[in-house]
Amino acid sequence: MAQRIIIAGGGLGGLSLALALKQALGAGHEVVLADPVLARPGRTDGRAYAISAAGRRMFAALGVWDAMAGEAQPITDMLVTDSKTRDVVRPGYLTFANSRPDAGADGAPFAHMVWSRVINQVLTESCREVGVALRAVGVRRVTANQDSATVDYTDGERQRAALVVAADGARSRLREGAAIGWVGWDYGQSGIVATVAHERPHGGRAIEHFLPAGPFAVLPLPDDAAMGHQSSIVWTEATSDAETLLSLQPDDLLDELETRFGLQLGALRFASAPKAYPLSFGIARRFIAPRLALLGDAAHVIHPIAGQGLNLGLKDAASLAEAVVDAARLGVDVGTEAALAPYQAARRFDTVAMGVVTDGLNRLFSNDVTPVRLARDLGLGLVDRMPGLKAMFIREASGNSTTQPRLLRGEAV
Ligand SMILES: Cc1cc2nc3c(=O)[nH]c(=O)nc-3n(C[C@H](O)[C@H](O)[C@H](O)COP(=O)(O)OP(=O)(O)OC[C@H]3O[C@@H](n4cnc5c(N)ncnc54)[C@H](O)[C@@H]3O)c2cc1C
Repeated sequence: MAQRIIIAGGGLGGLSLALALKQALGAGHEVVLADPVLARPGRTDGRAYAISAAGRRMFAALGVWDAMAGEAQPITDMLVTDSKTRDVVRPGYLTFANSRPDAGADGAPFAHMVWSRVINQVLTESCREVGVALRAVGVRRVTANQDSATVDYTDGERQRAALVVAADGARSRLREGAAIGWVGWDYGQSGIVATVAHERPHGGRAIEHFLPAGPFAVLPLPDDAAMGHQSSIVWTEATSDAETLLSLQPDDLLDELETRFGLQLGALRFASAPKAYPLSFGIARRFIAPRLALLGDAAHVIHPIAGQGLNLGLKDAASLAEAVVDAARLGVDVGTEAALAPYQAARRFDTVAMGVVTDGLNRLFSNDVTPVRLARDLGLGLVDRMPGLKAMFIREASGNSTTQPRLLRGEAV
C-alpha cells in the first residue's frame, strides 16, 4: 500500500526526518517536505550548533556526516565555572578534560560544533538526491478524518496524505490547528548569539560560565581562513539588558564581552553581528493527534543552557522514522494511533526530563544570592569528585543516556 507523508517545516528537524523516511521507504511511498524557505537555497542564520554524539551517529547512519565532518569542530574538553560577572579569576568547578572516553561507546568526542548552514545544505541536497518532494510553500491548514489528512498549501494546492508531521517550529500553526495544548513560560531572558574571533587557539574546549544574569557559553568553532581562531558564544541576559547591550557602540559592547569572556584566549573581536533570541520553555500536552505528529520545536522548546534543543528534535526524527517505517513495512496505515503511539511513548518522557533539568539548572544559576551560590559551588565541587555522577552528566550531554532508536545507535532504520 503506497502512502504519502507530508512534513510541514524544513528546519533541521524536518529535513532529518524527511531524509530518514525516504531512504528507508524508497520509491513505494511518497515523502513531501513543504516550507517557503526552500525557495531560498543557501539560506543561513549564521549560527552553529553543538551536535551530540548520538546526533552525529544518526547523521553517519544517514550517510551525511562525512560531508559535514570537514567543517565540524570536536568538543574534546569542557569547563564549568561559577562566579560574579567582574571576577577576574574564575575557578573551574567541573572539568571534563580526562572524561572523554566515557562519552560514547566508540570513545568519540561528546559533541561537535557544526554550522547550521552546513547541516542545512547537506541535508537539503541529500533529500533532493533520494527523491523527497521539496515544495517551497507553506502549509495553511490540515484537516483529518478516519481515512486520510488533507493539506491545504499557501499556493492554493491541496494534497491528501496518510500522515502529516508538524515540524513548523515553536509557534507551530499545525499544533494550534489540532488544538493541542502547550504548557510553558517565558524566561524573561534572551540568548545573545555571535561568532567571536580570538588571538589564541581554543584547543577544542567548551566553557560555560554561570554568571548572575544567566549562563555564558563559549563553544569552539573550526578556524576560519579570514578570521583565524573563533568560537561561538551564547550569552544569556535579562531581555531588557540584552536590548540595551545590543544598542551599545561596538567598542563598548566589546568591553562588556571581554568582561564575561575573559582574556585567556587573547584579544577578542566580533566575527558576526550579535543577535538576541528570546528564551522560553514549553512542551506540547500530546505529541500526536489524528493523522498528525509533532516534531522538534513544534513539540518542545527548552533553555539553551545545555545546547540540547535541536538534539531533542533529532531524537524525535529518529524515533518517528522508526515508528513510521516499522508500520509501513507491515503494510499498516502510518497515520493511525496504533502506528504513532510508540513515538509518543518513546519521546514524551525523555523530553520532559530534559526540559526539567535545563529549567532547573537555569533557575539554580541565574541569580547572585550568597547562600545559593555556596550551595551550588558545593554541588559542582561534589559532582567533579564523583566519577559516577560525572559519567552520567557526560552521557546526558552526548545523548547516550536512554534506550535509543536504531538511527541514534548508528544503525539503518
Ligand atoms: C540561543 C539558542 C542557542 C541554541 N543552541 C543550540 C545548540 O547548541 N544545540 C542544539 O541542539 N540546539 C540549540 N538550540 C535550539 C535549536 O535552535 C532549535 O531547537 C532547533 O533549531 C529547532 O529546529 P526545528 O527544525 O524543530 O524548528 P525550526 O528551526 O524553527 O524550523 C521550523 C521551520 O518551519 C517552517 N514553517 C513555519 N511555519 C510553516 C508552515 N505553516 N508551513 C511550512 N513550513 C513552516 C519555518 O520556515 C522553518 O524553516 C538553541 C536555541 C537558541 C535560542
